[in-house]
Amino acid sequence: MISRIDLRGEALPEGSALRDLLPRAEFDVEAALETVRPICEDVRHHGAAAVIDYGEKFDQVRVPSLRVPAEAIDRALDELDPAVRAALEESIRRARLVHHEQRRTTHTTQVVPGGTVTEKWIPVERVGLYVPGGRAVYPSSVVMNVVPAQEAGVEGLAVASPPQKEFGGLPHPTILAACALLGVDEVYAAGGAQAIAMFAYGTEDGDGDPGCAPVNLVTGPGNIYVAAAKRLLKGRIGIDAEAGPTEIAILADSTADPVHVAADLISQAEHDPMAASVLVTDSDELAAATETELKTQVAASKHVDDRIVPALAGRQSAIVLVRDLADGLKVVDAYGAEHLEIQTADAAAVADRVRNAGAIFVGAWAPVSLGDYCAGSNHVLPTGGCACHSSGLSVQSFLRGVHIVDYTRDALADVAHHVVTLAEAEDLPAHGAAIKARFGWKVPDTK
Ligand code: NAD
Repeated sequence: MISRIDLRGEALPEGSALRDLLPRAEFDVEAALETVRPICEDVRHHGAAAVIDYGEKFDQVRVPSLRVPAEAIDRALDELDPAVRAALEESIRRARLVHHEQRRTTHTTQVVPGGTVTEKWIPVERVGLYVPGGRAVYPSSVVMNVVPAQEAGVEGLAVASPPQKEFGGLPHPTILAACALLGVDEVYAAGGAQAIAMFAYGTEDGDGDPGCAPVNLVTGPGNIYVAAAKRLLKGRIGIDAEAGPTEIAILADSTADPVHVAADLISQAEHDPMAASVLVTDSDELAAATETELKTQVAASKHVDDRIVPALAGRQSAIVLVRDLADGLKVVDAYGAEHLEIQTADAAAVADRVRNAGAIFVGAWAPVSLGDYCAGSNHVLPTGGCACHSSGLSVQSFLRGVHIVDYTRDALADVAHHVVTLAEAEDLPAHGAAIKARFGWKVPDTK
């Protein structure tokens, strides 16, 4: 069901040579670009009509209007199962606690007397938040997108999620209810690349549809087509990290419980046949016990043939055997997992030595499922090794730091000769002239 990669033979190679030995999905966003390019062009030229056509093609339902009516959002909240409502409210409460503390404050540095640089954090004006809804529906992703955007102070918030055939072309009612709980009323029944293009280019009013104004930034997870459209349209819009098919890596030693390890590997495999589940261990016994446990638990799972088995059996998943924990740490750093669990003795100390991971889950009582819903942490995280250069979604994702430069005449005069010298060194004399012009076309004397 899951393959083994044995790296115990000799010293581990470094860098990309090590990465090449590790399992990773054939998640070729570059190839998907060719699929999404015409979709994005169509939406650019034909607006809402193209978004609706692609919804009919890929989601098998033709929506009368992209914008979800307010009554449908209210109704979804009215009809929400009280237990799901309580769980969503707790998820929102915990996410708010964490994201509230991420807010940035304006800071002024006095560089010299009379010369200051203030860094001011300004929220992005309008954002498009993507909530997946192809194979599974993710009301939790509404929480994970909306809470940091709201805490950042974003004023224009629009959500898009694929239309669902069984709900008459509306996004899943739990997604609509989560929007209602968070006070979001601008929701579109649009999925995949066409939703990202709708956000990027905007759509016109027409046929009773109010249209979607273009956004400045698109965030949120999604499948390969969503990731490809974000990459294609980056520049016209800002994007968060590419958050594609989910990944879990577990670094475990002989103290780990194979029942927990197997359950956690399966929990992420049930997202997508392209999901990756990787166990890195120095224990033969744990590897064998996990394999046995996987068979038992998979047999008792849902989504077995369409997602779990293809994900676990795919080349992106494996049990990686290493000589010791030090090698295990090198492996997980080279892999850069979206989610990394540490199930070892002294897990906190081991976690402290990790450099590359989207989020780290420490010990037996912090499984990834907790982070998916209710830890307070964000679950929109970088995948495909992007964790070595990118962070998960946070308040920071929705802010821009703007430097405000304020110098008096004396403060400028004091440094003018350095500015002129550097301008001349770069053969940009007009830069120096802009200084001299303020001082009778001379470089002022320094004190
Ligand atoms: P999705 O909403 O991302 O994608 C569904 C859309 O894909 C459809 O609306 C359709 O328009 C488009 N599509 C489907 N087939 C297509 C084709 N052949 N050509 C062009 N477009 C096509 O939903 P999903 O498919 O369930 O994927 C959700 C993904 O999000 C999963 O891989 C899950 O692991 C991932 N996820 C990641 C994170 C993270 O933080 N990294 C969090 C939650 C979910």
